[in-house]
Amino acid sequence: MKFYVQSRTDELSNQLMETAKNYLEDFGMEWSEEEPDVVLSIGGDGTLLHAFHKYRGQLDRVAFVGIHTGHLGFYADWKPIEMEKLVLSIAKKEYEVIEYPLLESTIHYMHSDEPAVYLALNESTVKSPDVTLVMDVFLNDSHFERFRGDGLCMSTPSGSTAYNKALGGAIIHPSLQAMQLTEMASINNRVFRTVGSSLVLPSHHRCVLKPVKAPDFMVTIDHLHLLHKDVKSIEYRVAKEKVRFARFRPFPFWRRVHDSFIDNEK
Ligand code: NAP
Repeated sequence: MKFYVQSRTDELSNQLMETAKNYLEDFGMEWSEEEPDVVLSIGGDGTLLHAFHKYRGQLDRVAFVGIHTGHLGFYADWKPIEMEKLVLSIAKKEYEVIEYPLLESTIHYMHSDEPAVYLALNESTVKSPDVTLVMDVFLNDSHFERFRGDGLCMSTPSGSTAYNKALGGAIIHPSLQAMQLTEMASINNRVFRTVGSSLVLPSHHRCVLKPVKAPDFMVTIDHLHLLHKDVKSIEYRVAKEKVRFARFRPFPFWRRVHDSFIDNEK
């Protein structure tokens, strides 16, 4: 079995990376940055986002594991002191693989038949570079609303605890094949109107955003920020692909929510 370790590159994460590498090689596992079966991410959830995008083309074979060297993460849920136990379980292949849904974002341009397609583990957001974002929102080809405000965020279930939560969106269990559209500071008065609530869409639905005036947008895909010019539409759906996590012990999602946001003392 082949493995790779992605470090946040701070001193503690680098030290742990060396320890993990030595242990796993002692167990006869092979270091492979090109084609790993297991990727250990050491740092935080942000580190795992980077690891996910690095192996975006090999999601059907790679299983991710996250160790946190700061606070408890949603993807990075192993403590450094559990490293030996973790390495032993990897070497003995004593783990199950769980899958979480991803978001597919397709950006169509006015002067090109070649759309840009991205996969997000957390979310995609759309903002206007310098003016209020004005977008027509279509749900399954039917016009739903004209959005005016700071921006829109479409998140995955596992990304619902990230930016989406800060915007007041709901936390969605990652066993649900869904995506969630959340508003950023919509303008609502007697003239302009949006639904105001987050919308949770199932996997057979799609959401399309169409520019009303300015066609240039800042689109984020997790930690990646890109300016897209001459955009015709942005289409969101639950992706066919899934991300795979190696699970060595039960740590239920709602427990992680509790320990991250309510109380981590017990
Ligand atoms: P960053 O600014 O370094 O990270 C933002 C924070 O989001 C970090 O504390 C990170 O945890 C946490 N995070 C990432 N994924 C999460 C998840 N699924 N559930 C709960 N918390 C999560 O930026 P980055 O490292 O490049 O990460 C990009 C992410 O930042 C985006 O995907 C977006 O979700 C998030 N973000 C959040 C806000 C906000 O909350 N207002 C604004 C912009 C972006 P770690 O410390 O463990 O890495």
